Amino acid sequence: MYRVIFACVFLFSIGTSMAQIDFKAQRKNMVSVQLQNRDITDEATLEAMLKVPRHQFVPQNLRELAYTDGPLPIGEGQTISQPYIVAYMTQVLELQPDDKVLEIGTGSGYQAAVLAEIVDSVYTMEIVQKLGHSAKKRLKEQQYNNIQVRIGDGYDGWPEKAPFDGIMVTAGAEQVPPKLVEQLRESGRMIIPVGPHRGIRQLVLITKKKGKIKRKNLMAVRFVPFTRKEEE
Ligand code: SAH
Repeated sequence: MYRVIFACVFLFSIGTSMAQIDFKAQRKNMVSVQLQNRDITDEATLEAMLKVPRHQFVPQNLRELAYTDGPLPIGEGQTISQPYIVAYMTQVLELQPDDKVLEIGTGSGYQAAVLAEIVDSVYTMEIVQKLGHSAKKRLKEQQYNNIQVRIGDGYDGWPEKAPFDGIMVTAGAEQVPPKLVEQLRESGRMIIPVGPHRGIRQLVLITKKKGKIKRKNLMAVRFVPFTRKEEE
């Protein structure tokens, strides 16, 4: 009997450690094939993508797909972006270690974790209560103590914590929310998908230099919509 229990415990521990090695290898592969083989060159971004356990941010039954080259559902009709898009949007912000960043659209908390690996502090807002609560819990469990999650509409940003060195919106907006641009620090950078509701949008980079706002379209993307009140 004891031998059977021993064998079970032994096999179980091999199984779990193999699964962990596997995720790490998958993550390494994701970084080289999906990011470095494309145009992700920023060291800090690559390191963060190598470190954050993406499989902990997707639903349990989708863990095996966590490192594949696409978005995945995270519940409540929302999605976690494709790893390449997460890395691309991160790289474009040209972040520094002592930066303070605002993210609108916490979702699973994955993008916030990637940002938190690079900068000093991350403020992230999520309009869907259920997602906000579970992201908060997940990020706490993973000891991301430099991330604050706030549940609510991010349209007007987080004025008490402004200005921000970088702002990232991870839901597709029809227009650029003006308060977010206001909360961008001089020389700050903001990235936001903009375009028609449920259509193809442009990832727009907004920069602020000497008070002057510049806009540049970077690439066509699809994103879940930016909403104004929690959908019932
Ligand atoms: N960054 C997330 C994925 C974002 S999906 C991740 O890494 O997992 C887009 C998210 O934006 C969704 O969770 C959606 O509920 C949220 N969202 C949409 N409109 C919003 C708004 N006005 N304020 C805050 N969050 C919003």
